[in-house]
Amino acid sequence: MGAFDNPLLRSRCFIDGTWVDSDNGAVLTVTNPATDETLTTVPRAGAAETEAAIEAAAAAFGSWKRTPAKDRGAALARWANLAEQNLEELAKILTAEQGKPLAEARGEVRSTIAYFRWFAEEARRIDGQILQAPSADRQYLAMREPVGVCAAITPWNFPSSMIARKVAPALAAGCTIVLKPANQTPLSALALAALSERAGIPAGVFSVVTGDARTIGQVMCGSVTVRKLSFTGSTQVGRLLMQQCAGTIKKVSLELGGNAPFIVFDDADLQAAVQSALAAKFRNTGQMCTCANRILVQDGVYEAFTEKLLSAVRELNVGNGAEAHVTQGPLIDEHAVGKVEELVTDAVTKGGQLLCGGRKHVLGGRFYEPTVIGDAVPAMRFSREEIFGPVAPLYRFSTEDEAIALANDTEYGLAAYFFSKDLGRVFRVLQALEYGMVGVNTHLIADEAAPFGGVKQSGLGREGAREGINEYLETKFASVQL
Ligand code: NAP
Repeated sequence: MGAFDNPLLRSRCFIDGTWVDSDNGAVLTVTNPATDETLTTVPRAGAAETEAAIEAAAAAFGSWKRTPAKDRGAALARWANLAEQNLEELAKILTAEQGKPLAEARGEVRSTIAYFRWFAEEARRIDGQILQAPSADRQYLAMREPVGVCAAITPWNFPSSMIARKVAPALAAGCTIVLKPANQTPLSALALAALSERAGIPAGVFSVVTGDARTIGQVMCGSVTVRKLSFTGSTQVGRLLMQQCAGTIKKVSLELGGNAPFIVFDDADLQAAVQSALAAKFRNTGQMCTCANRILVQDGVYEAFTEKLLSAVRELNVGNGAEAHVTQGPLIDEHAVGKVEELVTDAVTKGGQLLCGGRKHVLGGRFYEPTVIGDAVPAMRFSREEIFGPVAPLYRFSTEDEAIALANDTEYGLAAYFFSKDLGRVFRVLQALEYGMVGVNTHLIADEAAPFGGVKQSGLGREGAREGINEYLETKFASVQL
């Protein structure tokens, strides 16, 4: 089975339980970033189709919110089971449209399934409180209710799991939701929609609209029917959407950019630190919001860490993610390659030591060599900007205070990592880091049981864990005179 004969490949929007083209027949082409071949086209939908999906979500909301929580959970569990039965098909679509190695794509689909299952279970645990009223003849209740019709906009770097983290808690809470996936990777979203149909999710509860981002976003943000917008993507677009939602005072959840520090102290387990740095930097070819963007290494272990990291990076295998043994796929597009080239040139001009890589890969196209740059300093552009590519800058520091100051010197606050065996230091540094998520002696920070999200300009709200469903619930307070 290749990308084309995949039974879950869809080329139409899924609106109100029906597969539809755009009203004017316009389409967008979806290409494979490894080969540049056209996979299919999807509708270039706009305002009218988005409005239709919102109306369908509003029509479906009344009965979906009254559907018992255990039945909403059961529907999500059926969806999870179907995704599991079709894991290989979903992973192949993901690799074909996004480029990541098949093993990583399978891992992402497993994570999608895990979010579905987690929130299938959480549906039953939505509960309120009976509060102490000021007098005996009054009863105070705090009830939890679904927010209403929701809208979601997702990015291309995790085209499957970013959807599950929004749609599963929304449906579990009793909300209905309209999704606009990224234009470069809409096929995973449509494949999940095909499975939602088979799982018996009622028409209108989950719709997918592909097309013009700006127009669809404006309709979603401007709609009085839509009560919440959940967005994952860049800080720049998140800021714009938050402004657009101000007119209707919508609830917003924003999972935005990051600039993660990865700190290696003198007392770290160096082997473990290198393995984690490799994963935190190079997974998905460095295209993750939680990527180690700045690797800060203490004086005493700088040389030893660098040497070990370089030998691990030289083992990475660049190529088409569909091929066995490939660990590094292509970048998503030419623009991303251009940005990486610019950042490397900037660093070298400012005194950075090119220790390996630093060029487009001989495979050509959107492939770039895994790169390590030593002697990085704050003046280099990647100290402030997300690299979103396979480039690891190494910064040298002397003291704990210096490392903390460097780590916090950014407008972002999503993920941070540090390696140390000193218990006192672990708690001091953990408290001092201004980040939503911290990996201590590990790079593993994201799964369905973890509240994922950032502080500062990395966003608002959390996805996953119990907190993930709260984002889709409102509290209704009742004061009852007996
Ligand atoms: P992006 O350019 O912000 O796009 C994200 C989504 O927003 C896409 O669906 C895009 O549609 C849409 N969009 C773009 N402009 C829009 C507009 N004016 N109105 C409405 N929607 C609009 O980000 P990206 O380059 O795809 O993704 C990478 C970014 O996402 C990075 O900054 C990364 O850190 C962040 N990210 C954050 C998390 C997290 O959980 N914090 C997770 C993953 C990624 P089109 O595709 O059609 O342009």
